[in-house]
Amino acid sequence: MTSAPLTPAGSPVRLRPEIVALPAYKQGEAAATGFKLSSNENPFDPLPGVLDAVDAVTRRMHRYPDASAGEITARLAASWDVETDEVIVGAGSVALLVQFTLAAAGQGDEVVYSWRSFEAYPWMTVLPGATAVPVPNTPDHRHDLVAMAAAVTDRTRLVIVCSPNNPTSAVVTKTEFEVFMAAVPSDVLVILDEAYAEFVTDPEAVSGRELVRRYPNLVMLRTFSKAYGLAGLRIGYGIGPTAVLAAARTTVMPLSLTDHAQTAAVASLDRADELHERVANIVARRDQVWNALVEQGWDVPRPHGNFVWFPTGARTDEAMAVFRSHDIIARAYLPDGVRVTIGEEESVQKLLYASQEIIGR
Ligand SMILES: *Cc1c(COP(=O)(O)O)cnc(C)c1O
Repeated sequence: MTSAPLTPAGSPVRLRPEIVALPAYKQGEAAATGFKLSSNENPFDPLPGVLDAVDAVTRRMHRYPDASAGEITARLAASWDVETDEVIVGAGSVALLVQFTLAAAGQGDEVVYSWRSFEAYPWMTVLPGATAVPVPNTPDHRHDLVAMAAAVTDRTRLVIVCSPNNPTSAVVTKTEFEVFMAAVPSDVLVILDEAYAEFVTDPEAVSGRELVRRYPNLVMLRTFSKAYGLAGLRIGYGIGPTAVLAAARTTVMPLSLTDHAQTAAVASLDRADELHERVANIVARRDQVWNALVEQGWDVPRPHGNFVWFPTGARTDEAMAVFRSHDIIARAYLPDGVRVTIGEEESVQKLLYASQEIIGR
């Protein structure tokens, strides 16, 4: 038997070159010591009632989960005042992003998004063999929605709008979004990724809550990972038109959404008041940090998520080292800047010492 020559992947097996070329997923750095502010996680421990509810489910782990996600879907439908088939629940909103991409875009189709934005967007575009069309952020680190609408062609099947934008923490305004939706043809799917919606206090910012049933081509995505503190359990959801959601349901990795996640989400909705109080704490901390940064002389975009963006450019590695020397584990986005999550109260002063040192150099 003759062996086949090695492919560029270093194996005789013929793999899809665009998949082999994808960089491996890079998780926010773990913190052996210091504050892990690299993944936009919630710094609070899980609520005791949520932990108890999940413990009870652990005793059923020999059973498959409820694939219909019946209870949490009904709860979300009631909360958003929609029918249950206008709600889709998935194993994190990243999983839902992949499902919608698979449903809408294939080989040769285009996916438009702002850049720099969430790192899952370029990755999930490659999976079905679609083509990414990144549109540069404005100089003040916001989406350029006019340019994004102009980037839509006959081949465009999906446009993603991220507000607040990860990692720059800037929002799209209601007016900008309305003008954008009017310019995008109604046969192009638009996803409004609102992973950080619960942290938004600016009344001018776009809000999916006010857009329900306004457009036949719009899906709002939310997650329990950030404000609700369930990042480790993987659960997110979308609200949108029935037919679009039905298509995305067919592309799911079957049974990937666990009963633990579903139960924790229901228990969290039962304790919404406590969770909103925690979110209010983080928001106050964030605004305190932003005010201090402005006083230090930083020109950072006003943060609307649970994180702040430092546009450190060529000095990003140096800035990361300074953060680390102050016990802050941040996330570098080379060559653009550093994202720091608003975390424990005790991390705030350290963050501000670090930022002072960086700008003073
Ligand atoms: C964190 C995040 C998500 C959600 O992640 P899941 O944990 O998969 O729900 C989605 N979009 C953006 C922009 C995010 O930052």
